[in-house]
Amino acid sequence: MNIHEYQGKALLKGFGAPVAEGVAIFNAGEAEAAAKKLPGPLYVVKSQIHAGGRGKGKFKELSADAKGGVRLAKSIEDVVANAKEMLGNTLVTKQTGPAGKQVNRLYIEDGADIDRELYLSILVDRTVGRVAFVVSTEGGMDIEAVAHDTPEKIITVAIDPEKGVTAEDLKALNGALKLSGEAASDGEKLFPILYKAFVEKDMSLLEVNPLIVMTNGRLRVLDAKVSFDNNALFRHPDVLELRDTTEEDAKEIEASKYDLAYVALDGNIGCMVNGAGLAMATMDIIKLYGAEPANFLDVGGGASKEKVTAAFKIITADPAVEGILINIFGGIMKCDVIAEGVIAAVKEVGLKVPLVVRLEGTNAELGKKIINESGLNVVSADDLDDAAKKIVAAVKG
Ligand code: GDP
Ligand code: MG
Repeated sequence: MNIHEYQGKALLKGFGAPVAEGVAIFNAGEAEAAAKKLPGPLYVVKSQIHAGGRGKGKFKELSADAKGGVRLAKSIEDVVANAKEMLGNTLVTKQTGPAGKQVNRLYIEDGADIDRELYLSILVDRTVGRVAFVVSTEGGMDIEAVAHDTPEKIITVAIDPEKGVTAEDLKALNGALKLSGEAASDGEKLFPILYKAFVEKDMSLLEVNPLIVMTNGRLRVLDAKVSFDNNALFRHPDVLELRDTTEEDAKEIEASKYDLAYVALDGNIGCMVNGAGLAMATMDIIKLYGAEPANFLDVGGGASKEKVTAAFKIITADPAVEGILINIFGGIMKCDVIAEGVIAAVKEVGLKVPLVVRLEGTNAELGKKIINESGLNVVSADDLDDAAKKIVAAVKG
């Protein structure tokens, strides 16, 4: 689960991290009062969407030379004018996809005078099985580009869970970020704070891009992207309260109600598969034959008829779906149960696109028989290769 920048900053502030004063607003009428609470004379008006790259983003409704989704303002009037221009409009950034995201919240922040922009993130580094800091002096910009062009400028410091952030780690981090003087002592305080927040709140990613050295030599968290491990959310009711479902894909929310692992994608072939590995293989083979999956969907090992029906509804409700591939290996789950679920779902929601079904494993023959005798327009396939070829051909017409 992701949260907004202003929520992430409030959370980090609670742990003692240095963040600017700021006020979140939901409509332009609140902008003046928000700015008046801040010291000035420099303000920042920041679009709150669950995507990065806002500064360089463009509003769909505004002219191409209009400013982006993060704007500096030099007076209260300027804050108000920018807030009016931004709220309600659609911001398109590198991370939103071409559809963009509607800006429904703004964060009005006290502006900082920046000397240097650094990069810092904390994540679970699976290669070493530890929580690790990833830092770079090249902050503020596209870290993927830095990783690609100058990988030597990205430094990883893995933390021993028994010891926590040690004096040696602090030295390594300060060295990697070239911090000295007051900024280095700020770093020595900040790094353990961020580590503590990450571990205590079961985060999966904490990204501060940029972490800044201000012209007064002090450190400040200027941006915050925080993601939480969904499997641990039950331990954090305070975090769950920060959820903004308007930022999430409606189909993914619906899927989560039925405990389906579903991720919406950009292609046109809807997939219903059991098991994450088989789902990945199915997506790969669709791509191999020249088409793109519309989703990742794992109905799980013990899917019921209700679950299959719900999954089918979610797939068919997606207007981008031009064909459906059901690929089930009946292990714990029986193929005849799947077949009945599919037929019940087709009868309930109708079928306007080609459907290819591949069943293998427990009760496969019975499952195929149920489908073939259903009278529905379903193409059955013998194996994964055959199934992928058939659905790609059907979609390409
Ligand atoms: P992102 O574009 O979504 O990553 O949003 P950020 O919060 O990282 O802001 C983008 C850029 O705006 C930063 O890299 C800074 O260069 C600039 N910026 C943000 N806040 C301030 C501020 O308080 N003062 C100044 N001078 N620049 C800022
Ligand atoms: Mg940023």
